[in-house]
Amino acid sequence: MRNNIYLDTAATTRVDQEVVKVMMPYFTDKFGNASSLHSSGREAEKALSDSRKTISEKVNAKNHRLVFTSGGTESNNFALKGVAFANREKGKHIITSRVEHDCVLNACKWLEKQGFEITYLPVDREGFVDLNGLEKAIRKDTILVSIIHANNEIGTIEPLTEIGKICSDRGVYFHTDACQSFTKVPINLEKQNIDLLTINSHKIYGPKGVGGLFVRQGVRADPLLHGGGHEFGLRSGTENVSGIVGFAKAAEMMKEDHVEHMARLRDMLIKGALEIEDSWLNGPTKDRLCNNANFTFRFIEGESLVVHMDMKGIAASTGSACSSNTLEPSHVLSAIGLKPEESHGSIRMSVGRENTKGEIEYTLEVLKDAVEKLRKISPFKRQGG
Ligand SMILES: *Cc1c(COP(=O)(O)O)cnc(C)c1O
Repeated sequence: MRNNIYLDTAATTRVDQEVVKVMMPYFTDKFGNASSLHSSGREAEKALSDSRKTISEKVNAKNHRLVFTSGGTESNNFALKGVAFANREKGKHIITSRVEHDCVLNACKWLEKQGFEITYLPVDREGFVDLNGLEKAIRKDTILVSIIHANNEIGTIEPLTEIGKICSDRGVYFHTDACQSFTKVPINLEKQNIDLLTINSHKIYGPKGVGGLFVRQGVRADPLLHGGGHEFGLRSGTENVSGIVGFAKAAEMMKEDHVEHMARLRDMLIKGALEIEDSWLNGPTKDRLCNNANFTFRFIEGESLVVHMDMKGIAASTGSACSSNTLEPSHVLSAIGLKPEESHGSIRMSVGRENTKGEIEYTLEVLKDAVEKLRKISPFKRQGG
Protein backbone atom coordinates (compact mmCIF):
# COMPACT_ATOMS: atom_id res chain seq x y z
CA MET A 1 0.00 0.00 0.00
CA ARG A 2 1.27 3.45 -0.92
CA ASN A 3 0.89 5.99 1.82
CA ASN A 4 0.54 9.69 2.45
CA ILE A 5 -0.88 11.00 -0.77
CA TYR A 6 -1.92 14.48 0.18
CA LEU A 7 -4.80 15.80 -1.92
CA ASP A 8 -5.98 18.59 0.35
CA THR A 9 -3.85 21.60 -0.62
CA ALA A 10 -6.95 23.80 -0.65
CA ALA A 11 -7.04 23.33 3.14
CA THR A 12 -3.34 23.87 3.71
CA THR A 13 0.11 22.89 2.43
CA ARG A 14 3.34 21.73 4.00
CA VAL A 15 5.97 24.42 4.51
CA ASP A 16 8.59 24.00 1.80
CA GLN A 17 12.10 23.17 3.08
CA GLU A 18 13.51 26.23 1.30
CA VAL A 19 10.97 28.38 3.10
CA VAL A 20 11.92 26.88 6.47
CA LYS A 21 15.57 27.59 5.68
CA VAL A 22 15.09 31.32 5.08
CA MET A 23 12.86 31.64 8.16
CA MET A 24 15.24 30.02 10.67
CA PRO A 25 17.71 32.92 11.19
CA TYR A 26 14.80 35.22 12.11
CA PHE A 27 14.06 33.14 15.20
CA THR A 28 17.64 33.28 16.48
CA ASP A 29 20.44 35.54 15.15
CA LYS A 30 18.10 38.03 13.48
CA PHE A 31 15.47 38.26 16.21
CA GLY A 32 15.17 42.07 16.19
CA ASN A 33 11.97 44.07 16.48
CA ALA A 34 11.36 45.92 13.22
CA SER A 35 10.38 49.05 15.17
CA SER A 36 13.72 49.28 17.01
CA LEU A 37 16.25 51.89 15.93
CA HIS A 38 19.39 49.82 16.55
CA SER A 39 20.99 47.71 13.86
CA SER A 40 19.18 44.53 14.91
CA GLY A 41 15.86 46.33 14.48
CA ARG A 42 16.93 47.79 11.16
CA GLU A 43 17.84 44.31 9.97
CA ALA A 44 14.30 43.14 10.76
CA GLU A 45 12.82 46.23 9.12
CA LYS A 46 14.86 45.53 5.99
CA ALA A 47 13.56 41.94 5.92
CA LEU A 48 10.00 43.28 6.16
CA SER A 49 10.40 45.82 3.40
CA ASP A 50 12.13 43.30 1.10
CA SER A 51 9.26 40.86 1.72
CA ARG A 52 6.68 43.55 1.04
CA LYS A 53 8.42 44.31 -2.25
CA THR A 54 8.63 40.66 -3.35
CA ILE A 55 4.95 40.02 -2.64
CA SER A 56 3.81 43.34 -4.12
CA GLU A 57 5.55 42.58 -7.41
CA LYS A 58 3.49 39.40 -7.74
CA VAL A 59 0.28 41.40 -8.13
CA ASN A 60 1.60 44.60 -9.72
CA ALA A 61 0.88 46.67 -6.61
CA LYS A 62 1.96 50.24 -7.39
CA ASN A 63 -0.49 52.34 -5.42
CA HIS A 64 -1.29 49.92 -2.62
CA ARG A 65 0.05 49.31 0.86
CA LEU A 66 0.58 45.69 1.83
CA VAL A 67 -0.52 45.31 5.44
CA PHE A 68 0.74 42.08 7.00
CA THR A 69 -1.82 40.22 9.09
CA SER A 70 -2.28 36.88 10.84
CA GLY A 71 -3.85 35.27 7.74
CA GLY A 72 -6.77 35.21 5.36
CA THR A 73 -9.41 35.32 8.07
CA GLU A 74 -8.01 38.49 9.61
CA SER A 75 -7.46 40.15 6.23
CA ASN A 76 -11.05 39.50 5.17
CA ASN A 77 -12.42 40.73 8.51
CA PHE A 78 -10.22 43.83 8.26
CA ALA A 79 -11.32 44.57 4.68
CA LEU A 80 -15.04 44.22 5.44
CA LYS A 81 -15.27 45.74 8.90
CA GLY A 82 -12.54 48.32 8.30
CA VAL A 83 -14.15 49.68 5.15
CA ALA A 84 -17.67 49.43 6.58
CA PHE A 85 -16.92 51.50 9.66
CA ALA A 86 -14.71 54.07 7.94
CA ASN A 87 -17.33 54.73 5.24
CA ARG A 88 -20.60 54.44 7.12
CA GLU A 89 -21.32 58.13 6.63
CA LYS A 90 -21.42 57.48 2.90
CA GLY A 91 -23.60 54.39 3.08
CA LYS A 92 -24.32 51.13 4.83
CA HIS A 93 -24.77 48.75 1.93
CA ILE A 94 -22.30 46.01 1.03
CA ILE A 95 -22.50 43.44 -1.77
CA THR A 96 -20.98 39.97 -1.58
CA SER A 97 -21.84 36.52 -2.95
CA ARG A 98 -23.35 33.30 -1.63
CA VAL A 99 -20.12 31.38 -2.32
CA GLU A 100 -17.68 33.26 -0.10
CA HIS A 101 -15.45 31.70 2.51
CA ASP A 102 -17.08 31.44 5.95
CA CYS A 103 -14.91 34.24 7.32
CA VAL A 104 -16.41 36.69 4.81
CA LEU A 105 -19.97 35.44 5.30
CA ASN A 106 -19.75 35.50 9.08
CA ALA A 107 -18.13 38.95 9.11
CA CYS A 108 -21.07 40.10 6.95
CA LYS A 109 -23.57 38.53 9.34
CA TRP A 110 -21.94 40.40 12.19
CA LEU A 111 -22.05 43.65 10.21
CA GLU A 112 -25.78 43.13 9.68
CA LYS A 113 -26.16 43.17 13.45
CA GLN A 114 -24.31 46.50 13.52
CA GLY A 115 -26.85 48.06 11.14
CA PHE A 116 -25.25 47.37 7.76
CA GLU A 117 -27.26 45.90 4.91
CA ILE A 118 -25.74 43.06 2.89
CA THR A 119 -26.75 41.73 -0.52
CA TYR A 120 -25.68 38.12 -1.14
CA LEU A 121 -25.50 37.63 -4.91
CA PRO A 122 -26.57 34.25 -6.27
CA VAL A 123 -24.33 32.23 -8.60
CA ASP A 124 -25.03 29.97 -11.57
CA ARG A 125 -24.67 26.18 -11.72
CA GLU A 126 -20.87 26.49 -12.11
CA GLY A 127 -20.46 29.03 -9.33
CA PHE A 128 -20.08 32.21 -11.40
CA VAL A 129 -21.51 35.46 -10.08
CA ASP A 130 -23.95 37.10 -12.49
CA LEU A 131 -22.47 40.43 -13.64
CA ASN A 132 -25.85 41.92 -14.56
CA GLY A 133 -27.08 41.01 -11.12
CA LEU A 134 -24.08 42.80 -9.64
CA GLU A 135 -24.73 45.96 -11.66
CA LYS A 136 -28.37 45.98 -10.60
CA ALA A 137 -27.49 45.44 -6.95
CA ILE A 138 -25.23 48.52 -6.70
CA ARG A 139 -27.07 51.43 -5.07
CA LYS A 140 -26.25 54.99 -4.09
CA ASP A 141 -25.42 53.86 -0.57
CA THR A 142 -23.25 50.88 -1.63
CA ILE A 143 -19.76 51.26 -0.19
CA LEU A 144 -18.09 47.93 -0.94
CA VAL A 145 -18.28 44.89 -3.21
CA SER A 146 -16.48 41.79 -1.91
CA ILE A 147 -16.29 38.79 -4.22
CA ILE A 148 -14.02 35.78 -3.81
CA HIS A 149 -11.45 35.30 -6.59
CA ALA A 150 -11.13 31.50 -6.80
CA ASN A 151 -13.57 29.38 -4.86
CA ASN A 152 -12.03 27.17 -2.18
CA GLU A 153 -14.59 24.39 -2.60
CA ILE A 154 -15.36 24.17 -6.31
CA GLY A 155 -12.50 26.11 -7.91
CA THR A 156 -14.56 28.66 -9.87
CA ILE A 157 -12.42 31.63 -10.92
CA GLU A 158 -14.65 34.69 -10.86
CA PRO A 159 -14.27 37.34 -13.61
CA LEU A 160 -12.27 39.86 -11.54
CA THR A 161 -11.49 42.19 -14.42
CA GLU A 162 -15.16 42.65 -15.27
CA ILE A 163 -16.18 43.01 -11.61
CA GLY A 164 -13.39 45.52 -11.01
CA LYS A 165 -14.50 47.56 -14.00
CA ILE A 166 -18.11 47.68 -12.82
CA CYS A 167 -17.04 48.77 -9.33
CA SER A 168 -14.66 51.42 -10.55
CA ASP A 169 -17.23 52.83 -13.01
CA ARG A 170 -19.73 53.10 -10.16
CA GLY A 171 -17.26 54.46 -7.61
CA VAL A 172 -17.59 51.54 -5.19
CA TYR A 173 -14.63 49.91 -3.46
CA PHE A 174 -13.80 46.40 -4.67
CA HIS A 175 -12.31 43.75 -2.37
CA THR A 176 -11.44 40.21 -3.38
CA ASP A 177 -10.41 37.19 -1.32
CA ALA A 178 -7.53 35.66 -3.27
CA CYS A 179 -6.34 33.08 -0.72
CA GLN A 180 -6.80 30.23 -3.20
CA SER A 181 -5.64 32.01 -6.32
CA PHE A 182 -2.61 34.04 -5.21
CA THR A 183 0.42 32.85 -7.27
CA LYS A 184 -1.79 30.37 -9.17
CA VAL A 185 -3.92 32.79 -11.20
CA PRO A 186 -2.44 36.07 -12.49
CA ILE A 187 -3.61 39.10 -10.52
CA ASN A 188 -2.99 42.71 -11.49
CA LEU A 189 -4.26 45.22 -8.93
CA GLU A 190 -4.00 48.12 -11.35
CA LYS A 191 -5.44 46.60 -14.52
CA GLN A 192 -8.20 44.81 -12.62
CA ASN A 193 -9.21 47.82 -10.51
CA ILE A 194 -8.83 45.97 -7.23
CA ASP A 195 -8.88 48.22 -4.17
CA LEU A 196 -8.38 45.58 -1.49
CA LEU A 197 -6.87 42.11 -1.89
CA THR A 198 -6.67 39.34 0.71
CA ILE A 199 -3.83 36.80 0.49
CA ASN A 200 -2.30 34.25 2.85
CA SER A 201 0.78 32.10 3.14
CA HIS A 202 -0.22 28.59 4.20
CA LYS A 203 -2.01 27.72 0.96
CA ILE A 204 1.23 28.27 -1.01
CA TYR A 205 3.79 26.24 0.98
CA GLY A 206 4.44 29.02 3.49
CA PRO A 207 3.85 29.08 7.25
CA LYS A 208 0.41 29.29 8.87
CA GLY A 209 -0.69 32.42 10.71
CA VAL A 210 0.62 34.91 8.14
CA GLY A 211 -1.29 36.82 5.50
CA GLY A 212 -1.75 40.23 4.02
CA LEU A 213 -4.25 42.79 2.88
CA PHE A 214 -3.37 45.13 0.03
CA VAL A 215 -5.11 48.47 0.55
CA ARG A 216 -5.12 51.03 -2.24
CA GLN A 217 -3.79 54.47 -1.19
CA GLY A 218 -6.72 56.70 -0.41
CA VAL A 219 -9.11 53.88 0.49
CA ARG A 220 -10.61 54.63 3.87
CA ALA A 221 -10.36 51.68 6.24
CA ASP A 222 -10.38 51.66 10.04
CA PRO A 223 -7.92 49.29 11.72
CA LEU A 224 -9.21 46.32 13.73
CA LEU A 225 -6.20 46.42 16.04
CA HIS A 226 -5.13 49.67 17.69
CA GLY A 227 -1.73 50.05 19.31
CA GLY A 228 1.72 51.23 18.42
CA GLY A 229 0.86 52.16 14.85
CA HIS A 230 2.64 49.36 13.02
CA GLU A 231 1.85 48.58 9.39
CA PHE A 232 1.01 52.16 8.34
CA GLY A 233 -1.20 52.49 11.43
CA LEU A 234 -3.57 49.92 9.97
CA ARG A 235 -2.55 46.85 12.01
CA SER A 236 -0.71 47.35 15.24
CA GLY A 237 1.38 44.64 16.85
CA THR A 238 5.02 43.61 16.47
CA GLU A 239 5.37 42.04 13.05
CA ASN A 240 5.83 38.29 12.65
CA VAL A 241 9.16 38.78 10.86
CA SER A 242 10.10 35.11 10.40
CA GLY A 243 6.62 34.27 9.13
CA ILE A 244 6.59 37.21 6.74
CA VAL A 245 10.03 36.31 5.36
CA GLY A 246 8.72 32.76 4.82
CA PHE A 247 5.58 34.07 3.13
CA ALA A 248 7.65 36.12 0.67
CA LYS A 249 9.92 33.18 -0.10
CA ALA A 250 6.87 30.95 -0.69
CA ALA A 251 5.34 33.54 -3.04
CA GLU A 252 8.61 33.83 -4.93
CA MET A 253 8.94 30.06 -5.32
CA MET A 254 5.58 29.37 -6.97
CA LYS A 255 6.20 29.19 -10.71
CA GLU A 256 4.17 28.79 -13.88
CA ASP A 257 5.56 25.24 -14.20
CA HIS A 258 3.96 24.29 -10.90
CA VAL A 259 0.62 25.65 -12.04
CA GLU A 260 0.80 23.67 -15.27
CA HIS A 261 1.82 20.51 -13.42
CA MET A 262 -1.11 20.84 -11.01
CA ALA A 263 -3.54 21.50 -13.87
CA ARG A 264 -2.39 18.31 -15.63
CA LEU A 265 -2.91 16.22 -12.49
CA ARG A 266 -6.29 17.87 -11.87
CA ASP A 267 -7.43 17.02 -15.41
CA MET A 268 -6.26 13.44 -15.02
CA LEU A 269 -8.19 13.16 -11.77
CA ILE A 270 -11.33 14.64 -13.31
CA LYS A 271 -11.20 12.40 -16.37
CA GLY A 272 -10.68 9.26 -14.29
CA ALA A 273 -13.26 10.04 -11.61
CA LEU A 274 -15.99 10.81 -14.14
CA GLU A 275 -15.63 7.26 -15.51
CA ILE A 276 -17.46 6.23 -12.35
CA GLU A 277 -21.19 5.92 -13.02
CA ASP A 278 -23.61 8.40 -11.47
CA SER A 279 -20.96 11.00 -10.80
CA TRP A 280 -20.41 14.59 -11.84
CA LEU A 281 -17.94 17.43 -11.48
CA ASN A 282 -18.93 20.42 -9.35
CA GLY A 283 -17.65 23.77 -10.57
CA PRO A 284 -16.63 24.75 -14.09
CA THR A 285 -14.40 23.01 -16.63
CA LYS A 286 -13.17 26.35 -17.98
CA ASP A 287 -11.87 29.05 -15.62
CA ARG A 288 -11.19 26.49 -12.95
CA LEU A 289 -8.44 26.72 -10.33
CA CYS A 290 -5.42 24.56 -11.31
CA ASN A 291 -5.47 22.37 -8.19
CA ASN A 292 -9.19 21.88 -7.54
CA ALA A 293 -11.45 18.92 -8.30
CA ASN A 294 -14.84 18.45 -6.62
CA PHE A 295 -17.16 15.55 -7.38
CA THR A 296 -20.55 14.25 -6.42
CA PHE A 297 -20.96 10.47 -6.34
CA ARG A 298 -24.62 9.69 -6.02
CA PHE A 299 -25.97 7.21 -3.44
CA ILE A 300 -23.02 7.49 -1.04
CA GLU A 301 -21.81 9.69 1.81
CA GLY A 302 -18.79 11.87 1.08
CA GLU A 303 -17.67 11.41 4.65
CA SER A 304 -17.52 7.61 4.38
CA LEU A 305 -15.57 8.01 1.15
CA VAL A 306 -13.04 10.36 2.77
CA VAL A 307 -12.57 7.92 5.68
CA HIS A 308 -12.18 5.01 3.28
CA MET A 309 -9.58 6.86 1.24
CA ASP A 310 -7.75 7.92 4.38
CA MET A 311 -7.38 4.24 5.31
CA LYS A 312 -5.64 3.80 1.98
CA GLY A 313 -3.30 6.69 2.74
CA ILE A 314 -5.04 9.37 0.69
CA ALA A 315 -6.06 12.71 2.22
CA ALA A 316 -9.19 14.21 0.61
CA SER A 317 -11.93 16.45 2.00
CA THR A 318 -15.71 16.57 2.15
CA GLY A 319 -15.55 20.20 1.11
CA SER A 320 -14.49 23.15 3.10
CA ALA A 321 -12.23 22.12 5.99
CA CYS A 322 -13.89 24.74 8.14
CA SER A 323 -17.37 23.32 7.82
CA SER A 324 -16.47 19.63 7.91
CA ASN A 325 -17.30 19.48 11.62
CA THR A 326 -20.90 20.49 11.04
CA LEU A 327 -23.57 18.40 9.40
CA GLU A 328 -24.97 21.30 7.40
CA PRO A 329 -24.58 20.80 3.65
CA SER A 330 -21.93 23.09 2.17
CA HIS A 331 -23.34 26.57 1.45
CA VAL A 332 -21.33 26.64 -1.78
CA LEU A 333 -22.81 23.39 -3.10
CA SER A 334 -26.29 24.57 -2.08
CA ALA A 335 -25.68 27.85 -3.91
CA ILE A 336 -24.91 26.03 -7.18
CA GLY A 337 -28.16 24.11 -6.83
CA LEU A 338 -27.22 20.77 -5.28
CA LYS A 339 -29.80 19.06 -3.11
CA PRO A 340 -28.68 18.27 0.45
CA GLU A 341 -28.26 14.55 -0.32
CA GLU A 342 -26.16 15.44 -3.38
CA SER A 343 -23.97 17.73 -1.28
CA HIS A 344 -23.44 14.95 1.21
CA GLY A 345 -22.20 12.70 -1.59
CA SER A 346 -19.51 15.20 -2.60
CA ILE A 347 -15.78 15.26 -2.06
CA ARG A 348 -13.02 17.71 -2.87
CA MET A 349 -9.55 16.65 -3.92
CA SER A 350 -6.97 19.41 -4.33
CA VAL A 351 -3.62 18.51 -5.84
CA GLY A 352 -0.23 20.07 -5.10
CA ARG A 353 3.02 20.64 -6.90
CA GLU A 354 4.54 17.68 -5.00
CA ASN A 355 2.00 15.13 -6.32
CA THR A 356 2.91 12.71 -9.11
CA LYS A 357 1.02 11.01 -11.94
CA GLY A 358 1.55 7.69 -10.17
CA GLU A 359 -0.20 9.02 -7.08
CA ILE A 360 -3.19 10.12 -9.13
CA GLU A 361 -3.38 6.70 -10.83
CA TYR A 362 -3.38 4.99 -7.44
CA THR A 363 -5.97 7.47 -6.13
CA LEU A 364 -8.30 6.69 -9.03
CA GLU A 365 -8.01 2.94 -8.38
CA VAL A 366 -8.84 3.46 -4.71
CA LEU A 367 -11.66 5.86 -5.54
CA LYS A 368 -13.36 3.51 -8.01
CA ASP A 369 -13.09 0.59 -5.61
CA ALA A 370 -14.34 2.65 -2.64
CA VAL A 371 -17.35 4.08 -4.46
CA GLU A 372 -18.34 0.61 -5.62
CA LYS A 373 -18.02 -0.88 -2.13
CA LEU A 374 -19.90 1.95 -0.46
CA ARG A 375 -22.72 1.77 -2.98
CA LYS A 376 -23.17 -1.94 -2.24
CA ILE A 377 -23.95 -1.14 1.38
CA SER A 378 -25.65 2.20 0.73
CA PRO A 379 -29.16 2.73 2.11
CA PHE A 380 -29.83 5.36 -0.62
CA LYS A 381 -29.00 3.03 -3.46
CA ARG A 382 -31.02 3.33 -6.63
CA GLN A 383 -34.08 1.13 -6.35
CA GLY A 384 -34.65 -1.61 -8.91
CA GLY A 385 -31.90 -0.80 -11.37
C1 LIG B 1 -7.98 29.43 3.65
C2 LIG B 1 -8.88 30.51 3.19
C3 LIG B 1 -9.20 31.58 4.03
C4 LIG B 1 -8.74 31.66 5.46
O1 LIG B 1 -7.37 31.91 5.56
P1 LIG B 1 -6.57 31.61 6.92
O2 LIG B 1 -5.19 32.10 6.61
O3 LIG B 1 -6.63 30.14 7.12
O4 LIG B 1 -7.22 32.38 8.00
C5 LIG B 1 -10.02 32.57 3.52
N1 LIG B 1 -10.49 32.51 2.26
C6 LIG B 1 -10.20 31.50 1.44
C7 LIG B 1 -10.75 31.49 0.05
C8 LIG B 1 -9.39 30.46 1.87
O5 LIG B 1 -9.12 29.45 1.05
